[in-house]
Amino acid sequence: MSQRFRDSTVLVTGGGGDIGRVIAARLAQEGATIALLDIDQHKLDSAVAWLSEQGANVAGFCADITDVKALEQAVDTIIERFGSIELLFNNAGYQGAFQPLHKYPADDFAQVININVVGAFNVLRVVSQHMVERQFGRIVNTASMAGVQGTPNMAAYSASKFAMVGLSETAAKDLAPYNIRVNAISPGFMGPGFMWERQVELQAKAHSQYYSTDPAEVAEQMINSTPMRRYGALEEIAGSVAYLMSDDASYITGINIPIAGG
Ligand code: NAD
Repeated sequence: MSQRFRDSTVLVTGGGGDIGRVIAARLAQEGATIALLDIDQHKLDSAVAWLSEQGANVAGFCADITDVKALEQAVDTIIERFGSIELLFNNAGYQGAFQPLHKYPADDFAQVININVVGAFNVLRVVSQHMVERQFGRIVNTASMAGVQGTPNMAAYSASKFAMVGLSETAAKDLAPYNIRVNAISPGFMGPGFMWERQVELQAKAHSQYYSTDPAEVAEQMINSTPMRRYGALEEIAGSVAYLMSDDASYITGINIPIAGG
């Protein structure tokens, strides 16, 4: 595989999760040094072990992206350890509850927005300060197809991912003068993994007119709503992220790539 990221360190937030670790593996194969950040130490340890087995130069950093002080400390530690951060995959996220709007729990709405919007903004802000100093940065934010079309029973998640698309566009404009490109990806139904299984389970429990109450049927309904009649493999996200971070995308900033099977 080409070594497009040989001299780069990438910070992957949500790096203990399914998508984070798979993207980290791809960027490591292309030569990147990997800093994984996650709130969950156990998932972080498992991802670091999995990546190390594949020969990656990787370290894990436990922090909550909604805690600005802890995040700043983690980013400082990463820079001390690796010297710099050239690439950011701003990917940590929380799916939230599955309830129709009039029943959606207000505290969960606030939590989803706090993690997916405020947390993602915190990461962008802290890491871009370092990138502005160095006049170099490549950023990919994880939005979602739920940020392109409103998804039933997912008011908070959809709102947060629409916000992520807007945040990416503004960040692209604000940071362009400093040689920092910012783009987003919007995965659709991706699996296997925690979020796929959880959404199938919880959409069934939501008892809405849109989905069956049987999880197996919900999975089929979701898959049949996609042009390619299957969910996307996590690895199928990797090429888009690597492309957006590479020089092949040297004049591309402020876009959102839908990864939705069509
Ligand atoms: P995941 O649950 O496996 O990974 C998310 C990770 O984020 C977890 O490891 C979690 O511990 C971490 N995290 C949550 N809150 C955090 C916080 N406050 N601080 C630091 N880390 C935190 O899910 P995934 O499927 O890997 O999802 C990754 C991203 O992709 C998310 O932003 C998600 O919304 C988005 N997404 C996923 C899918 C899908 O089908 N899997 C589809 C579209 C978008």
